[in-house]
Amino acid sequence: MKLIFLGPPGAGKGTQAAGVSAHLRVPHISTGDMFRSAISNGTPTGLEAKRYMDAGQLVPDSVVIDMVRERLAMDDCANGYLLDGFPRTVEQAEALDGISAPDAVVEINVPDERLLARLTGRRVCQKCSGTYHISKLTDEKVCPVCGGALIQRDDDKPETIAKRLQVYHDQTSPLIGYYQAQDKLRVIDVASLATVDGDSRPEDVFKAILASLE
Ligand code: ADP
Ligand code: ZN
Repeated sequence: MKLIFLGPPGAGKGTQAAGVSAHLRVPHISTGDMFRSAISNGTPTGLEAKRYMDAGQLVPDSVVIDMVRERLAMDDCANGYLLDGFPRTVEQAEALDGISAPDAVVEINVPDERLLARLTGRRVCQKCSGTYHISKLTDEKVCPVCGGALIQRDDDKPETIAKRLQVYHDQTSPLIGYYQAQDKLRVIDVASLATVDGDSRPEDVFKAILASLE
C-alpha cells in the first residue's frame, strides 16, 4: 500500500502516521523528521533546510524530491510507504507520480483555530520524536514514553506557526484538487469526530482513517 497523509501542520499527521504505518506494515516516512535528523547530524542537506524551516517556509522542491527519491529506493519500501509531509507542492506531487505513484491520499482536515492551539502547546521528544500536547503531560520536560527530553520545536513559535499555516493554504492545499481529480482522495473530517471538550480523540481518528481505506 502506497499512502500519503495530507493536512495542515498540527493536524495530527505524525501521530496517526505512526499508528497506521505499523498497522499496514509500511515504513513511515516523514520529510520533516528527515530534515530534523539531517540538521542534528550537520549534513549539507540539513544546513540548507534549516534556514527555510526556521522561517516557516518550504525547503526547495529539488532538495526534498532528491531526498525522497533516495528514501523510496530503499529495501523497506518494497511493499509500499506512508508519506507524511510530502508532497507539499504540485511540483512535488508530479515528481512522486514519476517515482512511485500513491494508491490513496488521506486528507486530515482540521479547522485553523484548532491547529493554533495544538501547535503552540506541542512538545517533541528529542530522543524518539514522539509528539505531545502540554495539556496532557504531567511533566512538560520529560517524554512519557522513553524518558527523553521534551522540547518546543523552533518552528512552533507563534510567528512561525502563522507563516506555516499560510504556506499550507497557498502551496499545499492545491494538492487536494490534484488528487481528487485522480480519484485517490479520502477526507477525514476531524471536526465531525470532536467530543464534548472540542477536540477529537486520536483513536477515533485512527479508526476513521482505516475505515476510509477499506
Ligand atoms: P508540520 O507538518 O508540523 O508543519 P513537518 O515536520 O512536516 O511539520 O515539517 C517541518 C518543516 O520542514 C516545514 O515547515 C518545511 O520547512 C520543511 N519540510 C518538510 N517537508 C517538506 C516538503 N515536502 N517540502 C518542503 N519543505 C518541507
Ligand atoms: Zn521519547
